[in-house]
Amino acid sequence: VKYVYSFGAGKADGDGSMKPLLGGKGANLAEMSRIGLPVPPGFTVTTEVCTYFYDHKRTYPVELQKQMEAGITAMEKIMGAKFGDAKGMPLLVAVRSGARDSMPGMMDTILNLGLNDQTVLSLASVTKNERFAWDCYRRFIQMYGDVVLGVQKREGEDHEPFETVIEEYKHKVYHKDIIDSDLTAADQQELVRLFKELVKERTGKVFPNNPWDQLRGAAGAVFGSWMNDRAIVYRRKYGIPAEWGTAVNVQAMVYGNTGDDSGSGVAFTRNPANGVDEFYGEFLINAQGEDVVAGVRTPEPVLKLKEVMPKSYAELLKVRATLEKHFKDVQDVEFTIQQGKLFMLQTRNGKRTAAAALKFSIDMVKEKLIDWETAVLRNPADQLDQLLAPIFDVADVKKATAIATGLPAGPGAASGKIYLNADRAVIAEQKGEKVLLVRNETSPEDLRGMIAAEGILTAKGGVSSHAALVARQMGKVCICGASALDIDYDKKTVTVSGQTFSEGDFLSIDGTSGIVYGGQLKTAPSEIISGMIGGDTAAQATEKFKSFNQLMKWCSQATRLQVRTNADNPEQTQNAIAFGAQGIGLTRTEHMFFEGDRIDAVREMILAETVEARKAALGKILPYQREDFIGIFEALKGLPATIRLLDPPLHEFVPHDEKSQSELAKKLGITTEKVISRVNALHEFNPMLGHRGCRLGIAYPEITETQARAIFEAAAEVQKKGIKVKPEVMIPLVGFKKELDLQVSIVHEVAAQVQKEQKVKLSYSVGTMIEVPRGALTADEIAQTAEFFSFGTNDLTQTALGISRDDMGNFLLPYTENEIFKKNPFASLDQTGVGQLVKIAIEKGRATRPDIKLGICGEHGGDPDSVKFFHSVGLNYVSCSPFRVPVARLAAAQAAI
Ligand code: ADP
Ligand code: MG
Ligand code: MG
Repeated sequence: VKYVYSFGAGKADGDGSMKPLLGGKGANLAEMSRIGLPVPPGFTVTTEVCTYFYDHKRTYPVELQKQMEAGITAMEKIMGAKFGDAKGMPLLVAVRSGARDSMPGMMDTILNLGLNDQTVLSLASVTKNERFAWDCYRRFIQMYGDVVLGVQKREGEDHEPFETVIEEYKHKVYHKDIIDSDLTAADQQELVRLFKELVKERTGKVFPNNPWDQLRGAAGAVFGSWMNDRAIVYRRKYGIPAEWGTAVNVQAMVYGNTGDDSGSGVAFTRNPANGVDEFYGEFLINAQGEDVVAGVRTPEPVLKLKEVMPKSYAELLKVRATLEKHFKDVQDVEFTIQQGKLFMLQTRNGKRTAAAALKFSIDMVKEKLIDWETAVLRNPADQLDQLLAPIFDVADVKKATAIATGLPAGPGAASGKIYLNADRAVIAEQKGEKVLLVRNETSPEDLRGMIAAEGILTAKGGVSSHAALVARQMGKVCICGASALDIDYDKKTVTVSGQTFSEGDFLSIDGTSGIVYGGQLKTAPSEIISGMIGGDTAAQATEKFKSFNQLMKWCSQATRLQVRTNADNPEQTQNAIAFGAQGIGLTRTEHMFFEGDRIDAVREMILAETVEARKAALGKILPYQREDFIGIFEALKGLPATIRLLDPPLHEFVPHDEKSQSELAKKLGITTEKVISRVNALHEFNPMLGHRGCRLGIAYPEITETQARAIFEAAAEVQKKGIKVKPEVMIPLVGFKKELDLQVSIVHEVAAQVQKEQKVKLSYSVGTMIEVPRGALTADEIAQTAEFFSFGTNDLTQTALGISRDDMGNFLLPYTENEIFKKNPFASLDQTGVGQLVKIAIEKGRATRPDIKLGICGEHGGDPDSVKFFHSVGLNYVSCSPFRVPVARLAAAQAAI
């Protein structure tokens, strides 16, 4: 078996496609070698050896030693140096770990391996540079001692033990702080002696003098580090399987620390923060690579190389062009310059912000480096909302102090005066104040306050809490669960980290990072929002806006899956259409119940004791709902609208505190006792599985009747204005065909009446939500009546998992830590479990009704991974909140490419 892959001198055994076997670093070193870039020679020990190592009680395959020896021999030839040579130039190597993806938390690199008490002398004499040789040796003992021998900081120690030795030495000899590169050869030699003493003292062992012992020790440490705690934690967090293993790269050293004509640096071929096509990075003169990241000396911008080493800089620019042309993506590179000669030590695709990703992708299509399909794939869908979020003024953030953190639930930046209840927030907003609504948690009654607020901050609740859900639907900035906040509703104060803020004081929240700041910070809206929704022509003229628009056009070109929106009013509908939504996939009729005084009529309906009284109350609700639907149909301009009939249990609409109950009694002219007894009667032990969904319409058919009437009367009126209307009436929570039949016959009856009364012909359809397992399992029966299915994946997840979304907070953490949940199943669809129910329902539904329209309207409609799944199972559309529409469009396009 081939365990060792060599590279160097324009050739390589492996190539860039072999990342699973060679790791990311090794594969790309091979690739750079092949395309003629100046890469110091070396070899990669494969990830298979790592797997073998763990399968065989930490031993190696027998062939390995021979293959490594051959690898070293090949390097010796190219370098004209010998490993362990005590007379001529010794070959020194770097030992570098290399998982498939770079993995912080893995073992650190060991440089200058091969030095010992003899080779340090030959290195000094061949290079005629004593200071350099002893500097290398000192560095080697330090790195090897730390990483391989485990000489590390102990409990109670403030500094790394090697650093402490250096500091003490400097103060003893120089009586002040000097930088490492000012240390003389004699200083370094003395430090080598002190370091070895330290190793002896801490480990009880003598520092290994034999280069092969050193090499085996280092390789073993790399493989060993694959199972260290940091690496395991990291893999768990990013879902990297332990079977992958790491490779080990052994590479000839090149030296950035030989003097002022040498140095080391890191750079991106383009700016990864904003995407600008400029060489971006930093370097240090007379330093080895570790110094650049260690932060001991402050590096210089890479552009400065142009002045100090113009020849190397020109060479670096050439390499930059070659790399981009070859890898067709922005690269993140590490390089070393040795006496004016450039060497490339690493390249990989550079991590980038959403803004940079967008600009890179558009620019590279213009440059003909990539095609438009690739450009679409280059924009991570789960990062896209970064582009839509308002941002804090950078200078203001620097000056501000963070006072708390919470879950970043709605990205963006918001600053405003705090208010602790919805009414006062609305009043303040009407006075023209910028408002932050701060609550322990939010409920539907806070909706108006949330609408009025720039941002929402809660002390409790997670990313799928009411506040988070609504914030996303409205595109509001939101932080949830900032548990350090101590909210006193009576005193109207928020106390946090020793400061007390009263209503009217300013706080600022960054919903992208989850950080809460005291005081006021300046914000600016995203150009994309201003241009799309606000029609702001200045914003539309910006490069960012144009690029975004181009990306969305490409998405339309590629996609099969349509994207609709969840919207409850004309404004949300317009926003979504501006973002490219192709209709409404879910209107929650009850969301309109809370606006203005409507709630009174709703409560009257709920408290009614007779059918007549209930019908009278419903008569008051009818015109409101009709107005709402008219607004929505008009905003849709002919696009379809799926309208869900009443879903939540009635007790959500009645007041639960005595004061409001007696107020309500007064308003309705009944006794408080009556109100209380009705509220008590509505109490449910498990509302999620209680009297809700179509169960309401079955018990109170007049509610269904009224809602259907509102829909069709609105449709008739809008159609008469010459606007096409396509209502799709949706019955929620159906598990039995009979439930649906009963409700559907009411809808058809009302439709017929309205068409006759209004003398119009309406085209509409009636369908159902598939959101309980029985509905999915009997989809063939249900499809006899239903003209469409919309998967309500929030409830389907709750009912399939038997887990209440609202009560999950108590065990989400251990479930995530133990990897029972790979991801929150309410944010990203549980494809193996809930996904099967979806597949079964699709199959059975289509068997009965081949042209049945299929969509999904849960929170998952805005989650990129879930969208890709819905594409693959053949849904017609996904529906998500208005501000997620671009994300869903991008994910849908990517799924189709
Ligand atoms: P990481 O994965 O943490 O970036 P690397 O293996 O890339 O670790 O090594 C870190 C640094 O060590 C590199 O940036 C480079 O400066 C230096 N280095 C690595 N290999 C060599 C080499 N062959 N010669 C000189 N310096 C090297
Ligand atoms: Mg590196
Ligand atoms: Mg539901």
